[in-house]
Amino acid sequence: MTTPRVYKTEAIVLKRVNVGEADKILTLYTPNLGKLSAIAKGVRRPKSKLGGHLELFTHSSLMLARGRNLDIISQAETISSFLPLREDLWRSSLAFYATEMVYQFTAEHMENYPVYKLLLDTLRRLCDTEDGELTLRYFELNLLTHLGYKPELYHCQGCNSALEPITNFFSASSGGVLCPQCKAKEPVARPISLNAIKVMRFLQENDYAKASRLKLDSELSSELEGLMRQYIRYLLEREMKTVAWLDSLRRER
Ligand SMILES: [Zn+2]
Repeated sequence: MTTPRVYKTEAIVLKRVNVGEADKILTLYTPNLGKLSAIAKGVRRPKSKLGGHLELFTHSSLMLARGRNLDIISQAETISSFLPLREDLWRSSLAFYATEMVYQFTAEHMENYPVYKLLLDTLRRLCDTEDGELTLRYFELNLLTHLGYKPELYHCQGCNSALEPITNFFSASSGGVLCPQCKAKEPVARPISLNAIKVMRFLQENDYAKASRLKLDSELSSELEGLMRQYIRYLLEREMKTVAWLDSLRRER
């Protein structure tokens, strides 16, 4: 069977890079084709019909033509531009983080519909969430689950015993929590409070409607942020680019 020369897909714009005089190469995340790169020719010209439909985070309906190297975007129509994300620096920075995370953790042409759905829902939620940090923690934990990196939060990753309701230790390299005895063998594991474990379990097991009702004080919120950052840095083997930017905004808030 030959693949059609022209195809249609919905997509979320993850990244845009200028090329040539008026073109852009876009990285898109799609429901059935995973992550893919495509070129938008002439999109930087003021009269381009594509312009405006291919901004960062935009959810669009696209028509593409197969190209020799890159597929070519021939038509684009906005489904949602998530306007509140563009009008608020904090919200847009959280959206940058979410799209960067999908960009960094996925390979091209690997379909993962739950990842697409989660990203789309997250962009929508970031438009009106009152606690962007909580929305992001829910996103991170569920994204890692969809990608096969779900942290283990019930049994010690060293000895498999059920975790006691005390301060335990989070180990990025073991993909979960260690009991105090097993922590001795892994000095870099960091303390994780009982409340932090409870919140992470709750975010893993409940839908967003329930999860978003949690109220976290700033201490617990920053503990969770630090734990997730450590785990994500370990998995990626580097820091996410948006992290330093988010930190500078957090200091101002
Ligand atoms: Zn143990």
